[in-house]
Amino acid sequence: MGFCPLIRSARRSLQCYRFVSQTTIFGGASESRSTKDVNNFSWKKESYYHVSSGSDFMRGVVFWEPNKPLTIEDFQIPRPKAGEILIKTKGCGVCHSDLHVIKGEIPFPSPCAIGHEITGEVVEHGPLTDSKITNKFPLGSQVVGAFIMPCGNCYYCSKGHDDLCEDFFAYNRAKGTLYDGETRLFLRSNGKPVCMYSMGGLAEYCVVPVNALTVLPSSLPYTESAILGCAVFTAYGAMAHAAEVRPGNSVAVIGIGGVGSSCLQIARAFGASEIVAVDVQDEKLAKAKILGATHTINSKKEDPVERIREITGGRGADVAVEALGKPVTFSQCIRSVKDGGKAVMIGLAKAGSLGEIDINHLVRRKIQVMGSYGGRARQDLPKLVRLAETGIFNLKDAVSRKYKFEDADKAFQDLNQGKIVGRAVVEIV
Ligand SMILES: [Zn+2]
Ligand SMILES: [Zn+2]
Repeated sequence: MGFCPLIRSARRSLQCYRFVSQTTIFGGASESRSTKDVNNFSWKKESYYHVSSGSDFMRGVVFWEPNKPLTIEDFQIPRPKAGEILIKTKGCGVCHSDLHVIKGEIPFPSPCAIGHEITGEVVEHGPLTDSKITNKFPLGSQVVGAFIMPCGNCYYCSKGHDDLCEDFFAYNRAKGTLYDGETRLFLRSNGKPVCMYSMGGLAEYCVVPVNALTVLPSSLPYTESAILGCAVFTAYGAMAHAAEVRPGNSVAVIGIGGVGSSCLQIARAFGASEIVAVDVQDEKLAKAKILGATHTINSKKEDPVERIREITGGRGADVAVEALGKPVTFSQCIRSVKDGGKAVMIGLAKAGSLGEIDINHLVRRKIQVMGSYGGRARQDLPKLVRLAETGIFNLKDAVSRKYKFEDADKAFQDLNQGKIVGRAVVEIV
């Protein structure tokens, strides 16, 4: 897709932005410098970029164009603006949403830094950050970030519907920027801008809007906790806000990847009585039992709709969740729910994919079909941290593989080939 006009405008404003930033780093101290000192400082500013990293540059994983290998590039260390925090990234999950972008199935501006499921350490606050934020997230504190990064001020955010944040969709998902229309990522070699998929978290540092962050207690590990920001977050949003699962409900989950397997654990936490896992891989179904499934169905060997009806006394499930994003499973999900039941779609599909619904079945049986994307960062993420902290959500069993930063491309290849059972996380040290 190349560099769009928007990106060029982002580049033009970089100089101005840096000037603002440099005065911020040193606060009042820079004002007392002589002109000569200031000029000297300006000339040397790259070396003052980030005092605690020991380096002026960082590495990040970049997607260039569909079906080309990801590359690791050197970037200037990004800088947070107002309302943002710079994170030294520690863990980043390997998610199908990135894979959709990598394969060109969901269009996204490129080049872009991928990765949207992160944990890390707070290393810098944006300019004019108020004391409430600096007290909540002091330098050195551990945090986890949600992939939907709420602006906090739009129509939906003001109603607490962070999952529908207008700025997130208008800027980040549509243009690959943060909410001033600019990226925070620039290549070391030539200064060219690189778009951000969410925070562009598959990098040694990332800038995250503060509303997307929650404190991660020291009892939780950086690596496994990364999945709280997308896989668990998405599962929680589907179960709590869309399906509104209640104790005693029957819940069927179709597609037991990172998100689907998290749905099993959340359904169990909510007191679901029958939890049915559907997949085509026996290995994933075996894992599903550890994560809360009371029944498993290999849909290559059995008709999942018939089998779900059998398990639920012939009626169908109270709730069925589709976590694959395929027309065939979309239809199965709808046919698996009882009369008046809820079919919740959380799997992203190739752009333009359509699903079929039997209209009369939908109308007469009062089937509720709903979409659900992520969760509400400010309300939900702290709850998810608590579920993990208390062991109600088992992070250790949810994460099956860990990759080195250098092997990020391999991680996505493995995900594409169905080789990852549960969730994989890239460790960034
Ligand atoms: Zn994701
Ligand atoms: Zn918003």
